[in-house]
Amino acid sequence: MGFQGNIEEHLLATKLAMRNKGIEGEASIIKRPREVDEIDGLIIPGGESTVMGILGSFNGVLNRIKERAMEGLPIMGTCAGLIMMAKRTYDRVVGETHQPLLGILNVMVERNSFGRQRESFELPLKIPVLGNKDFPGVFIRAPSIKECYEGVEVLCMLREHIVGVKQGKLLGLAFHPELSGDLRLHEYFLDLI
Ligand code: GLN
Repeated sequence: MGFQGNIEEHLLATKLAMRNKGIEGEASIIKRPREVDEIDGLIIPGGESTVMGILGSFNGVLNRIKERAMEGLPIMGTCAGLIMMAKRTYDRVVGETHQPLLGILNVMVERNSFGRQRESFELPLKIPVLGNKDFPGVFIRAPSIKECYEGVEVLCMLREHIVGVKQGKLLGLAFHPELSGDLRLHEYFLDLI
């Protein structure tokens, strides 16, 4: 979904991951409801979830994504993208955020869970589904997952924080794999598609 945020980085990582796996396909930026009908998988990037939510409700693209998610469209949301996918979100300072969300991932997410811009950081993550090698976790004003409900499997923790989950073909990540130089999560997502 290409309204705002780390769009080009995801596009490049997806193209490289497809090349690595020998997949012939197209990765493109979508913004309109009818474009949602033409895709086999969707990435919602990091950025600012309030902005994405407002723009995506105006033109109806969020509704269409929600419908296709219910039909089984694979979706990977990273950082603000995870927030967009969540059932509920809140911020420690302002409380429940009441922002437009897709509400497709059965989790409660805390926004800005590690503090704001100054508290951005990179740390190695253990992600067992990717094997033994650590994944470089890039966290930028990152959220974390506070509660998981029905059907949600934890993929990754950072200390006591849940930072990666899977629910069927939906992936929610609190960090930015597209900025890590490591394509394994994009490849993992392609496997889900
Ligand atoms: N703090 C942002 C939000 O709440 C997410 C930050 C990011 O995507 N890097 O939308």
